[in-house]
Amino acid sequence: MTSVMRAVLGVVMAMAVVVGVAAKPATFKGTVALVEAGRLQVKLADAKADDAAVWFDVTDKTKVTRGGMHAVFNNIRVNLGEAVTIVVNEGDEAGIEYRCPMKSDADVVEAQPGKCRKCGMNLRKTDRAAKAAELQFAK
Ligand SMILES: [Zn+2]
Repeated sequence: MTSVMRAVLGVVMAMAVVVGVAAKPATFKGTVALVEAGRLQVKLADAKADDAAVWFDVTDKTKVTRGGMHAVFNNIRVNLGEAVTIVVNEGDEAGIEYRCPMKSDADVVEAQPGKCRKCGMNLRKTDRAAKAAELQFAK
C-alpha cells in the first residue's frame, strides 16, 4: 500500500467515524415497481421470484441523485421500470417489528413480541421497510 493510499484510507475512515456511517452499507440494484409518497417499491435485479419487490422508505436523510446531481425525491418524476441503485446502512434493513395496535401508542415499537408498555395490549407483528440512505437514478 502506498503512502497516498494509506492517507486516503485514513481520511475516509476518519470521515466515517465523524458522520457515523454504518460499517457495512448494503447496495441494492433493481427497477422501480411502484412509487408512493415517501417510499418506493423496487424489483431487485438479482431476485429469483417474480414477486420479489421490496419497499424502501425515503426519509429526509435519504441522499437522492439523478444523473449524478442532487435531487429532491418529492420533486422528481420517477418512472416505473427505471433503474435505481439503493444504499441501505447497517441497522436500517427491512425486518419485522412489533407495534401497539392503538394509534395513540404509535411510538411503541419493539423488536420482540410482547405487551405494550403503555396500555398492556398484545403487540402486533408488522413488516418494516428498509430505510434508504441513498437513491441513485441514472437520469
Ligand atoms: Zn398500547
